[in-house]
Amino acid sequence: MVKIEIGPSDNGGLRASVVGKIDENFEGQEVLKQARPGQRVTLRLDGVRSISSLGVRALEHFMQQLGDREVVLEDISAAVANQVTMIPNLLGRATVTSAKLPFVCPSCGVEEARSIPYVRDAATTHAPACSGCGAKMDFDGFSEEYLPHA
Ligand SMILES: [Zn+2]
Repeated sequence: MVKIEIGPSDNGGLRASVVGKIDENFEGQEVLKQARPGQRVTLRLDGVRSISSLGVRALEHFMQQLGDREVVLEDISAAVANQVTMIPNLLGRATVTSAKLPFVCPSCGVEEARSIPYVRDAATTHAPACSGCGAKMDFDGFSEEYLPHA
């Protein structure tokens, strides 16, 4: 089950945040109904905890139905980023601007999901500073499983 919150974005576009687990029941009808033809759609996906294998199909279908609109994805969660790495066509023509991924502080041990640009090697080139002690954080896992390779 997912919860979708929809609101306007500052550029006249539609902005929606998706929270929960994407499974075979995901349709995104709220977004598809409200997005006008040609309207830019910004999706915030940091609240997506997991995607089932049938949910991947549902998400792919949803992205296709957005058609030729400009679609921007912000702060995709680790679950989404991991699927996109395995299935590069999953998001269609959408542009991913950032990913919210797990980091750990080598100095004080704090673990946090932090937003970094969705570009190759961003886990090191854009490593966030720890909110507790200010040290440069390490990616918590294998960043190549979550970020683009090219
Ligand atoms: Zn720290």
